[in-house]
Amino acid sequence: MRGTVLHAPGDIRVEERDHPKIIAPTDAVIRLSATCVCGSDLWPYRGIQKMDGPSPIGHEYVGIVEEVGDEVTSVEPGQFVIGSFFASDNTCEICRAGYQSSCVQREGPVGAQAEYLRVPLADGTLVATPDVPDADLVPSFLAASDVLGTGWFAAVAAEVGPGKTVAVVGDGAVGLLGVLAAKQLGAERIIAMSRHEPRQKLAMEYGATDIVTERGDEGVAKIKELTNGLGAHSVIEAVGTQESMLQAIRSTRPGGHVGYVGVTHDVALDGTELFFSHVHLHGGPAPVRRFLPELIDLIWRREIDPGKIFDLELPLDQAAEAYRAMDERRAIKALLRV
Ligand SMILES: [Zn+2]
Repeated sequence: MRGTVLHAPGDIRVEERDHPKIIAPTDAVIRLSATCVCGSDLWPYRGIQKMDGPSPIGHEYVGIVEEVGDEVTSVEPGQFVIGSFFASDNTCEICRAGYQSSCVQREGPVGAQAEYLRVPLADGTLVATPDVPDADLVPSFLAASDVLGTGWFAAVAAEVGPGKTVAVVGDGAVGLLGVLAAKQLGAERIIAMSRHEPRQKLAMEYGATDIVTERGDEGVAKIKELTNGLGAHSVIEAVGTQESMLQAIRSTRPGGHVGYVGVTHDVALDGTELFFSHVHLHGGPAPVRRFLPELIDLIWRREIDPGKIFDLELPLDQAAEAYRAMDERRAIKALLRV
């Protein structure tokens, strides 16, 4: 089967890889309908995250169940399923508390930019749609596999709710879907921080009420100006850099909440500043599995359209171009047709 392999920074290739097989009785193998490139795939692609030799890459996937192990009971061949970047048993104490991405049994799956994928712990990881969906819904279900679930978790972690003012740091797919989540969760005012016109437009479509183009200290000053000098109640951090993390914390009012979901790289926080900020910090790898049933239902009923964040669609064989387009910010998010 065909699948992507990252050989070295900037060197992504689609090549012949072994067809995945059932290894454990709790596994499923799925035939992918679509996959995509994640902002976090760009960290090793750019050489910022060190890699250890050529590795299959990709962790966002939807597809049709091809085969299941003997112990799998909740999904069966022929069903259209959505999973996420960490497999979970969905039964341990951590999972039951809603933190499936820290499951005591968590693992892979890796190499999802491919024709087929082995998903461990299938019962606790995969969620099937009511029926095989219409083709136009596939991008939205694919978004639920990571970026929608991650944006949703960020909004929940930031305690977004009715009457709240929400600021969103980061205008990538996760930030934009954080806007969508904030709208769904009843936020009164949603301030999107973006300086890119097509992304601003999508943020407005998803429910942003204000756009702030400044960043850093100037961005913080602008948020304060829009919130009577206090800062936002809830801030979504969807980048993961030192600058974005500080921008998020400093844009939050005392007593407010930051939901941070950008994979952090070289972020160091000053204890004294944190102490006197009086903000709640909560985040990490999103427990997408917690939200999948609800998100699948919203998409199935066409109440939300997160698939709009895919502004580039290419066949799997052109994965290298998908990476380049995202790296150069020519595309918000690239979908790969399998
Ligand atoms: Zn678990």
